[in-house]
Amino acid sequence: MSDLGDLYQEMILDHSKRPRNEGRLDAPTHQADGNNPLCGDKLTVFLEVDGGTVKDVRFEGSGCAISTSSASLMTEAVKGKPIAEAEATFEKFVNLLTQKEDVDPADLGKLAVFAGVSEFPTRVKCATLSWHTLHAALGKNQDPVSTE
Ligand code: ZN
Repeated sequence: MSDLGDLYQEMILDHSKRPRNEGRLDAPTHQADGNNPLCGDKLTVFLEVDGGTVKDVRFEGSGCAISTSSASLMTEAVKGKPIAEAEATFEKFVNLLTQKEDVDPADLGKLAVFAGVSEFPTRVKCATLSWHTLHAALGKNQDPVSTE
């Protein structure tokens, strides 16, 4: 189990040091801002949605290793996916971390690396920030997201 823990930590570290899909989109169809004042994580999610599919996704911001790596993995998870699938993954991910519902981590693929974060409620907000912001962007919610 500790080997598995190391592997997870390595993936989180890798994505926090070399975030994927970081930056802005030239002409986003959707975007939203997210803020986690407890930790100081801030980010903006940009989407290009076409025909019900997330064609492209980027994020920009600053935050801790958990929030940055989660945003990076979020972009990989939803890029090219139908909106319905992105929303379903959002719900599963949040449920996995908040433990409001039983979720099989295997359903979440790589995102399961964050399962251990559920033991640390303050870090849950770091890990779910990018997903709540994605959800707000998809819903064209203009109010900035705050995890407070
Ligand atoms: Zn954080």
